[in-house]
Amino acid sequence: MESIGVLMACPMNSYLEQQLENRFKLFRFWTVPDKSSFLASHKDSIQAVVGNAFAGADAKLIEALPKLEIVASFSVGLDKIDLAKCKEKGIRVTNTPDVLTEDVADLAIGLMLAVLRKLCESDRFVRSGKWKRGQYVLTTKFTGKRVGIIGLGRIGMAIATRAEAFSCPISYYSRTEKPEIKYKYYPSVVELAANCDILVVACALTTETHHIINREVIDALGPKGVLINIGRGPHVDEPELVSALVEHRLGGAGLDVFEHEPEVPEELFGLDNVVLLPHVGSGTVETRQAMADLVIGNLEAHFLKKPLLTPVV
Ligand code: NAP
Repeated sequence: MESIGVLMACPMNSYLEQQLENRFKLFRFWTVPDKSSFLASHKDSIQAVVGNAFAGADAKLIEALPKLEIVASFSVGLDKIDLAKCKEKGIRVTNTPDVLTEDVADLAIGLMLAVLRKLCESDRFVRSGKWKRGQYVLTTKFTGKRVGIIGLGRIGMAIATRAEAFSCPISYYSRTEKPEIKYKYYPSVVELAANCDILVVACALTTETHHIINREVIDALGPKGVLINIGRGPHVDEPELVSALVEHRLGGAGLDVFEHEPEVPEELFGLDNVVLLPHVGSGTVETRQAMADLVIGNLEAHFLKKPLLTPVV
């Protein structure tokens, strides 16, 4: 397989990079200064693209690589891949489902606790020496809060199971009601937001779910409500979220993802009711290695003409 060209779209994981290097002819796209002439000169050798949540394979890249056979994403989300173009051209697509579910769900619960109990803010209180001058403010109880989940897929369900252990009543919104699921279903995001204390975004990013959190949803969640986003940044109309937080029309937010990563609105930096993370939902050593092994496993299966491990297209 050493002659098969694999294009890595951006830096993602040193273990994955090493494993790809050991098996294939690896090209690191981010190190290439003139991308157009690079693609023109390597178009006949690149047969695979490895992308992730930040860079994948858009129509332009796919068109530039006539020998492309497979896009293997180091992520479960597929929003950086032009799936329609892949289908049209018979290009296979794989992702990394399941292996990251627990970490992302753990982080969602961590964000809920961090926002309600002001964990980051109270840590800063201790470090700055302010504790010596007085007690920290009282915070908000998490146990028993009503949790509403947008997108009851693998991660959404794992969040629900964890929140149940905190005696949280669970409700959800998705495209269709799931009769086999015991949680209460709301047929719109606004109704879900109006009937929960903590609203969690856990759905896939598509044209339909872009800005699924808008002003109407934020208003329905209200000044005591908390938004948790572990999905993708563009799920949220960010200027609307920022103004609602600044004007205290929303109670708080725990955000792992942002609309224009790694840019984060500076207005959020001074607020004590938000917790901001650098898109680290699946960012543990164990899970990133499992994701890397799946990417490698899918590529090897494809080029050995075996069934893909986690096919999407
Ligand atoms: P999944 O099992 O495919 O679940 C996706 C869910 O999205 C499904 O339950 C689906 O529900 C829902 N959905 C799709 N379109 C919708 C729409 N128009 N309205 C409402 N719900 C919709 O995927 P997963 O493994 O749980 O991952 C979910 C997402 O988490 C990924 O797509 C990714 O963007 C994000 N993620 C983030 C991180 C991070 O680091 N923060 C890490 C991993 C994943 P229905 O089919 O019932 O509508």
